[in-house]
Amino acid sequence: MRPLHALIDTQALRHNYRLACQAAPDSRALAVLKANAYGHGALECARALSDLAPAFGVASIEEAQALREGGIEQPIVLLEGFFEADELEWIAAQGVICVIHSEWQLEALASAQVTQPIAVWLKCDSGMHRLGFVPDEVPDVWKRLGDMTAVGERVLMTHFATADQQESALFGHQLATVERLRQALGQPPVCWANSPATLSHPAAHGDWVRPGIMLYGADPLPRANDLSTELQPVMTLESRLIAVRELGAGEPIGYGSRYVTEQPVRVGVVACGYGDGYDRHAIDGTPVLVEGARTCVVGRVSMDMLIVDITELPEADVGARVTLWGRGPNGAILPVNEVAACCDTISYTLLTGVTARVPRRMLSST
Ligand SMILES: *Cc1c(COP(=O)(O)O)cnc(C)c1O
Repeated sequence: MRPLHALIDTQALRHNYRLACQAAPDSRALAVLKANAYGHGALECARALSDLAPAFGVASIEEAQALREGGIEQPIVLLEGFFEADELEWIAAQGVICVIHSEWQLEALASAQVTQPIAVWLKCDSGMHRLGFVPDEVPDVWKRLGDMTAVGERVLMTHFATADQQESALFGHQLATVERLRQALGQPPVCWANSPATLSHPAAHGDWVRPGIMLYGADPLPRANDLSTELQPVMTLESRLIAVRELGAGEPIGYGSRYVTEQPVRVGVVACGYGDGYDRHAIDGTPVLVEGARTCVVGRVSMDMLIVDITELPEADVGARVTLWGRGPNGAILPVNEVAACCDTISYTLLTGVTARVPRRMLSST
């Protein structure tokens, strides 16, 4: 069997969820499980959090259906709402909550025949300019929703573009805009905060927070704070050395001979490549753990393999455990953020990018 797998530590997931609750003690925390729980396995993560989280967030009705079919009974929020009007019947029957961001959705709701009212989260575009009604439209839309028989409870929602930046005028503007709306609408329940806002902007906590990436243990802040340093990695992407080579000075390594040895080296070939979701943009020097000791990638990542320098690790041989990110043997931790920085990307793309051929193994206790 190929030695590559993704270990999913559900205790760490629960720890991180509790940390979100600690960060926002007066709010309820919606656990965001979209994109297969950021690559971790949505149903397994929902089950692991089902006694803690009052609700889950997903991106589509297909993702919500998978949770319902797996026996998850909590309210589920469709973070982009419905895509087609004929989804409304199932949404109502299943007690699924719907984000409403566009006029066409209002029209569909106004003429929907549903068995029970649908709870809605009205999305205000307070400045990110992705989804939502502009602030001037919100009071009218709020009222129209209130008059519809197909609509139940209403929550005011927005999404921040720059909550992860230390000083952001846009963040201040967005928060002031939705605060003003909250007053104008008579203090309805609100939901504004993603992970970085949950961790670092108490003024934006509202009635609900919506942590995603922090649940999976990746720090969304450019500079960690007291809470974010407590996050624990949930996914460990782990494989083994399948070959060890000794090379002299001046030898090329891998496709395109991007890396050329300067002195004699010992290298190991790891069963993991971009076909598994390991980013091909990884530069020479991207960190890797071999039996818990830090070393690095040399040469271009191939589809099924990558190569690491083990010159300084004479004990490392075929079969040695390799941690691409997450928790290594002897408690060593390689944060996925560090790998992402060497791939010119963010933790989100690496975690969601782990491909289907990588088996997920649930670790239920550590
Ligand atoms: C994905 C998503 C979140 C979670 O964001 P993180 O940065 O992962 O915490 C929150 N709200 C909405 C609308 C989202 O789409």
